[in-house]
Amino acid sequence: MVSRGKPSPALSWHATGLSTWAITVPIAMCSLTILRRTEVISLEGAGNLESVMWRNRDTGDAETRTIRHVFSMTGANPNTAWLEGCVALDSRGFIKTGADLAADDLDRPGWPVERRPYLFETGTPRVFAVEDIRSGSVKRVASAVGEGSVVVQLVHRVLTD
Ligand SMILES: Cc1cc2nc3c(=O)[nH]c(=O)nc-3n(C[C@H](O)[C@H](O)[C@H](O)COP(=O)(O)OP(=O)(O)OC[C@H]3O[C@@H](n4cnc5c(N)ncnc54)[C@H](O)[C@@H]3O)c2cc1C
Repeated sequence: MVSRGKPSPALSWHATGLSTWAITVPIAMCSLTILRRTEVISLEGAGNLESVMWRNRDTGDAETRTIRHVFSMTGANPNTAWLEGCVALDSRGFIKTGADLAADDLDRPGWPVERRPYLFETGTPRVFAVEDIRSGSVKRVASAVGEGSVVVQLVHRVLTD
């Protein structure tokens, strides 16, 4: 198991965004070698996957192993740097919405209206954020569908305010 995350003990996996299930079940069921601070840099093969190369991010040491199957767990880090200054972000870069917005987040020109933000509304009026990118969300398909369906009604509401 390869992780780009910090080289601290198992709990640091939470910082990478991996769920407890995704960490503890494979570790309990299999004999695993965990390579932290390591990233996959190439997949090689003629027709099918034959080998994987990875590199330690601290030492730069690269290693190639004969491996025929890869499961890639990516997407746990929000790519929101470009939103800085537009909407309020939490310390990990997820977008704060609704009741999670502190007074500080709203005490700026971006929030010029009297009312508090609606559910899923960001620190900028009429701009909403749902699911994975949203601070505190469940980060599952079912909740993404649910939040998406709820926010449609809220968009209608702000458009008629
Ligand atoms: C490896 C992996 C395994 C998972 N397994 C499960 C599972 O078994 N069960 C489960 O319930 N959930 C699982 N999840 C979580 C689930 O996939 C997410 O919670 C869900 O897809 C979130 O939906 P979303 O609409 O918020 O985001 P996404 O599905 O990520 O959709 C966001 C969309 O926005 C697009 N986008 C990004 N930036 C921009 C931009 N600047 N402009 C325009 N478009 C943009 C992206 O291309 C993407 O299409 C897994 C996630 C990962 C990464």
